[in-house]
Amino acid sequence: MPVNLLDLDGDQLTRFVVAGLGEKPFRARQLKRWMHRFGEADFSRMSDLAKSLRDKLVLTASVTPPVLAADNLAEDGTRKWLLDVGRGNAVETVFIPEAERGTLCVSTQAGCTLACAFCSTGKQGFNRNLSVSEIIGQLWLANRALGASPGGDRRISNVVLMGMGEPLLNFEATVSALRLMLDDDAYGLSRRRVTVSTSGLVPMIDRLRDECPVALAVSLHAPNDALRDRLMPINRQYPLAELLASCRRYLDRAPRDFVTFEYVMLAGVNDADEHARELIGIAAEVPCKMNLIPFNPFPDSGFTRSPREVVRRFSEMLNAAGVVTTTRKTRGEDIDAACGQLAGKIQDRTRRVLRIERAAS
Ligand code: SAH
Ligand code: SF4
Repeated sequence: MPVNLLDLDGDQLTRFVVAGLGEKPFRARQLKRWMHRFGEADFSRMSDLAKSLRDKLVLTASVTPPVLAADNLAEDGTRKWLLDVGRGNAVETVFIPEAERGTLCVSTQAGCTLACAFCSTGKQGFNRNLSVSEIIGQLWLANRALGASPGGDRRISNVVLMGMGEPLLNFEATVSALRLMLDDDAYGLSRRRVTVSTSGLVPMIDRLRDECPVALAVSLHAPNDALRDRLMPINRQYPLAELLASCRRYLDRAPRDFVTFEYVMLAGVNDADEHARELIGIAAEVPCKMNLIPFNPFPDSGFTRSPREVVRRFSEMLNAAGVVTTTRKTRGEDIDAACGQLAGKIQDRTRRVLRIERAAS
């Protein structure tokens, strides 16, 4: 089987080129540029590589991204790709163009084990972790689809790991993919422009800080343990006090001096004045920005979106208390590309009851 070079981070690629093919290390950098920066999959077109190396590559390696199953464009310019990751599973990647940036929202797992009550990915169960090539392959495919080429301009300026799955439960592959995103010969993004979003796995937040600190977003969604236990089973394992302490530790090394707290606005559940006051208390403990997300409905969710005036009032209360608060614009709704609507298609191989018990233990 040829080695899929999209599965290798920078060090692994150098090892493959030097130890595996007997070439000089700088060849690995050239190869990385062709593959990742210019989106080239055909070794014969990598014109500054020696013919002998190109021949060796053809025999031993490939550049194989995930298989594209669908490509949808929303009215607002949001674009969603559905990727077939085998055995009946599909994941989604979303590109969100804005005036001064282009953000790619990337998935890290087929499904998710954590079963948050308001999330359609969580409702579907879990199938498996994505490989490095399946994670970085989303950036690779999107770049190509958006016209990456030698000398072409880059439309993806930011990456958020906010698609399907919990990135910190697929830690090794996620960190390898992050390293490629940051690598100047690959995607060359600054640490501030790459964001990992987590539901709050405390030990893994510490590992991310130690191994690859990038911007951190934490799905908070409730300002007290009783409510958070109900909405996010992971809170029973890592309650708020521990989560907030890990956020403070993270900020020692983070490229930004704040954590973004995501807060999905669920009508009559977490959107009362009392909740805003509790959130203000949390913001006093951790330097943060609040990002309110209007709930995006999906069939049988059991929740509804907080009315616009309620979101406005909630946001004003926070801002008046000095907590920088923004409300996320809902994008790509007409193609089901908004937050929490990413469903792909997952063959659930977990038994739900077991999963919830594990998350709660
Ligand atoms: N597992 C990670 C990253 C993926 S979810 C995490 O939970 O942070 C990305 C964001 O979308 C999270 O903040 C998540 O809570 C939010 N989200 C999930 N379902 C949603 C829904 N139905 N409407 C709006 N946001 C939702
Ligand atoms: Fe998983 Fe995040 Fe959805 Fe929770 S919100 S179920 S952690 S993807």
